Amino acid sequence: MDKYRLVFPPTVGYMILYYLFYKPILNNFEEHKAFPLLLGIVVGYQLYDLMHYFFHHADHREGSYMKMMKTYHMQHHYKYGTIGFGVSNKLWDFVFKTEIMPGGDKQNQEAVIANAKYQK
Ligand SMILES: [Zn+2]
Repeated sequence: MDKYRLVFPPTVGYMILYYLFYKPILNNFEEHKAFPLLLGIVVGYQLYDLMHYFFHHADHREGSYMKMMKTYHMQHHYKYGTIGFGVSNKLWDFVFKTEIMPGGDKQNQEAVIANAKYQK
């Protein structure tokens, strides 16, 4: 496993968050609504980063949900880069039809990848 391929650099990540969210939210919401919303975005991003790091480095118990999601996430990194984006769960992969199917059915995975490219 590539231990350096972990999280997005925080400085760059916060710069992107700033341009994507800070100004638009301050321009469209009153301060008493904007700042809690921005805090939620920053905390959510930080939790995502920590969870991503955890999935890469923690030694998960065999047969556990965490082990299954780590395997799923590693397949995204090293086998099927254009599908399987979920880190903590597969909800959005299910919604956007980018879920990596269990069992490694190659024909099925190729169909999912083709569908994901078609949707772009
Ligand atoms: Zn990862």
